[in-house]
Amino acid sequence: MKNLRIGIPRALLYYSYAESWKLSFSELGLDVITSPETHANILREGIKHAVGDLCLPVKTFLGHAALLKDSVDLLFIPRYVSVEKESFMCPKMIGLPDVVRACFTNLPGIIDPLFHVKQFGDNAVREFTKPIAKAISQHHPDVYTLFKRNMNTAVEIPAEQNRVSARLLSEVGILSSHRKMNIGIVGRPYLLFDRHLSKNLFKYIKDLGANPIYLKPEEPDMREAMAVIPKWVYWDMGKEVVTSAHLFFKDDRVDGVINVCSSTCGPDSFTGDLIRKRLNQRNKPYMALSIDEHASDVGIQTRIEAFMDMIARVTA
Ligand code: SF4
Repeated sequence: MKNLRIGIPRALLYYSYAESWKLSFSELGLDVITSPETHANILREGIKHAVGDLCLPVKTFLGHAALLKDSVDLLFIPRYVSVEKESFMCPKMIGLPDVVRACFTNLPGIIDPLFHVKQFGDNAVREFTKPIAKAISQHHPDVYTLFKRNMNTAVEIPAEQNRVSARLLSEVGILSSHRKMNIGIVGRPYLLFDRHLSKNLFKYIKDLGANPIYLKPEEPDMREAMAVIPKWVYWDMGKEVVTSAHLFFKDDRVDGVINVCSSTCGPDSFTGDLIRKRLNQRNKPYMALSIDEHASDVGIQTRIEAFMDMIARVTA
């Protein structure tokens, strides 16, 4: 008998959790099919199917779903509502399975398990795996055990992106060994690490001779950052974005900060305002780089070059 083929679109939370999903489904005996890295045709297809004011990352997701839907038995589109007790994903992310159902006909079966730590607490993974077990006709305890064991499998980040933890930044430091221009990059992983959407910005900055740094903040850093601003950030990834910006602004080795955001993203406009008005106490060079489907490589590159010129003038 042929293995079930499960499709995982390479967009949105793929950039945070894909390795754990892929590993778990493979170990359960399914053939895992992922879409390729985003390219112009995928994005075009996503835009064609999108409705209303969907943001660029969701349009991209639709393009990946379109590419996979006719070649798999099942599409995996989990519904992440909260990954911790104090914050939520944005409504577009929460409604993602419904958006896909509304935008396409002739879909294969969709597995859309709910991940909701605020509601289920320590049982979140157990609840998450129940519909998965049902959809693939396997015993729930086996599915749960595998997903639980694999859930912290790190996602592969392209080598050109200097990804460090907050602890590394403050204690050892990728920054301490040289004195290149250091630029902190903040933003959502699915925008930053999708090379087509981000216009390969990490590589571009490196090619210009500077050092782009992406930070993975840790819990104490988030608490510290939240204490600086007037109100706790309840958007899950927004909290990380704000915290990273806070850490970059207060670190003297970081010369400037770029906030990469999606032009029609509600949470990004909120966190962008907080970063600009409340966190940049030292008036460090800061640029919000808003990206939509019309952004050209050259336009983004020109802005980055102008930003680096500004840093060079300020730090001269
Ligand atoms: S947080 Fe913003 S970019 Fe992400 S899915 Fe929601 S609206 Fe789109």
